[in-house]
Amino acid sequence: MSAITLSSNVNLLYGIGKEYAEKLAKLGIETIYDLITYLPFRYSDWTSVRTISEAMDGNEVSFYGQVVKAPFRGGYKHNSPVNMTVGDTTGMLALTFFNSPYLKDKFERGTKCFVHGVVTCYNGKYQMVNPHIEKDVDNKETRLVRPIYRLTSGLNSNMINKWIKTALSLVANSLPDFIPPQLVKDEKLCSPLDSYMFVHFPKSMDQAQEGRKRLAFEELILLGVGMKLSSGNENANQKAIKVVSKDEGLSKITHNRWEKIISNLGFELTDDQKKAFKEVQLNLMSDRPMNRLVQGDVGSGKTVVALLSMAIVGLMGMQAVLLAPTSVLAKQHFDNACKLLDGSGLNIVLLMGKTKASEKKKIRQDIASNKASIIIGTHALLSDEIEYSNLALVIADEQHRFGVKQREKLLINKSSQEGINSVHNLIMTATPIPRTLAMVVYADMQTSVIRHKPKGRQEVETCFIRSIDDKKIFEILINALNRGEQAYIVCPRISSNEEELSDDRIVENTQNEEIEMQSVQSMMKLLKDSGLSDRFETRALYGSMKETEKLRVMESFLSMDTKLIVSTTVIEVGVDNPNATVMIIYDSENFGLSTLHQLRGRVGRGDKKSICLLVSQTKSQLACQRLELMCHSSDGFDLANKDLELRGPGDFFGTRQHGIPTLRAANLFTDASLAKIACDSVNEVLKKDDEEASKLKETINMAFKMRFANKINAL
Ligand code: ADP
Ligand code: MG
Repeated sequence: MSAITLSSNVNLLYGIGKEYAEKLAKLGIETIYDLITYLPFRYSDWTSVRTISEAMDGNEVSFYGQVVKAPFRGGYKHNSPVNMTVGDTTGMLALTFFNSPYLKDKFERGTKCFVHGVVTCYNGKYQMVNPHIEKDVDNKETRLVRPIYRLTSGLNSNMINKWIKTALSLVANSLPDFIPPQLVKDEKLCSPLDSYMFVHFPKSMDQAQEGRKRLAFEELILLGVGMKLSSGNENANQKAIKVVSKDEGLSKITHNRWEKIISNLGFELTDDQKKAFKEVQLNLMSDRPMNRLVQGDVGSGKTVVALLSMAIVGLMGMQAVLLAPTSVLAKQHFDNACKLLDGSGLNIVLLMGKTKASEKKKIRQDIASNKASIIIGTHALLSDEIEYSNLALVIADEQHRFGVKQREKLLINKSSQEGINSVHNLIMTATPIPRTLAMVVYADMQTSVIRHKPKGRQEVETCFIRSIDDKKIFEILINALNRGEQAYIVCPRISSNEEELSDDRIVENTQNEEIEMQSVQSMMKLLKDSGLSDRFETRALYGSMKETEKLRVMESFLSMDTKLIVSTTVIEVGVDNPNATVMIIYDSENFGLSTLHQLRGRVGRGDKKSICLLVSQTKSQLACQRLELMCHSSDGFDLANKDLELRGPGDFFGTRQHGIPTLRAANLFTDASLAKIACDSVNEVLKKDDEEASKLKETINMAFKMRFANKINAL
């Protein structure tokens, strides 16, 4: 058998075949290193035993008791639930079991038992539904701290845990160790192997915590130092192409051409946009490579700043690239660029994976000959076949930031007469990230913030609707459509039996609960049956559709032929249709607040009054509170902070769409101060520039690549 290493594919591991490997890939697990760093998102603690009176609504508890009322059928149907009551010295609790008729004969009144489950409140009474129950009160096998992993269908936590055990036994001697000894000592950190053993196979919650602590430090170091090292930006001497000379300024640009662009704009830039644009211009005058982040909430107007920056580069006779995360967005940017730069004499091209081969060839030639200066596309632009003749600026949506490997081809080391020159780099993000965090995640970048939205925008009215049958939903929808406005309906799944969950769901291990979620297809059927889609052109849109098909749907929506789009979260990023005024999100408790905020940002983009309906039948108090939050705040920063208060280490950033990779051990909010300690300690060692330093650098580089750099979202 060939040796398994950290970077081996998981399908080489005993027990994981092609099929399971595909399922694991859905969770972002492709290599052995991915697998062992896939941490439980919570633990189910079967070790700490409570009394019944301590049991509280929503809590997962274990207790010992005695059967007070023997199991009996709750009805006459063959699938009626089985009920029983268990008590201890402090109280009694009703247990209900679905699909477990065999229990009826297993427990008698007075039998001693061990119970583990989630306490819920039903009709004012505490109960447990489908708990674990066993007669063997001394069974050590079940009294464990059990890791619970985020899953996709066809996998369970036990399987993942078992595979991790096998994997760890094979790579135990080659785990990367990149925490400086001083920090290990100061923070009393365990060894690398122990850290994995403790988080995946803890004997106690304290032990799990101990393991997690070391891994949190590792993650923060990779994020805070790894990015910098691997993008080569730590080299302060790196030279960049000077796009604009300081003395001449923009004087080289023919006045008319620039004036034309500004008049195409049709509005005045906001103060924040002006400032961001100015900052970019200053960078373009410098011979140090720009490495700038433009941060602004959805709809704040980042795209305009990007396009104007590209225009300057183009007008100075050089090339600028704009990388979009999806072809829908690339096309939209292209259309915007065409409008904005109309009459300026700049040549704009659009290149995507699905672009026809003959057309691609022509575009490649235009790029190689410097004929095309404004180059827009998806990561097809990163293909080896494309040779840029005079590339000076690369702008990317943050999604691409951690796809370093692909992107660095464009960014680094462009040769010119003077030797090695680096391209200027601009990244746009809508992730509302507080300053302390930005210092870690974007440690290597300067930032421009667009805080205020363009004037005249109306706030999107947001309502939490607690029943999917509420008549209001369709009333609001139909009224808007009748006024000639357009709308989106978002559902968490594509079809009811579709295994693949739509793009960004919070996949929790809901015990024994089969929740029927609204799907794109069932919604399409409902709209058909009600006659609505006959009156108003309605189209479905989801991630696994063909790219060309997606584009066609988006185009017909933008041209107002399609009035209503029924979609998964694929529309989350960036789609801009000012005539869309209604956003209806079904089963909205399934999405992170940041996703909901992004979705809501798809409406309210013009001057018309817009509304967002969050439809959810959730009983969870926490979920309700979060949806209420959405109704009361329209500010991404504010929502991020409040979500943190509500949920503690939360999911706000835990979604793939945002540029920040999902952290598993560390929490970006609460661990920001740890991040500084960790990175300072590493930088201290690196500064010495000795053997220890170069070894550390190498290990961090390797771990960074394994953990973050080679991951790029499939388009
Ligand atoms: P973002 O990319 O930040 O989400 P966009 O750049 O797509 O936002 O801008 C959202 C909408 O606002 C676009 O339709 C854009 O034309 C418009 N817009 C941008 N800047 C201004 C401005 N200064 N005044 C008026 N409208 C603007
Ligand atoms: Mg945008």
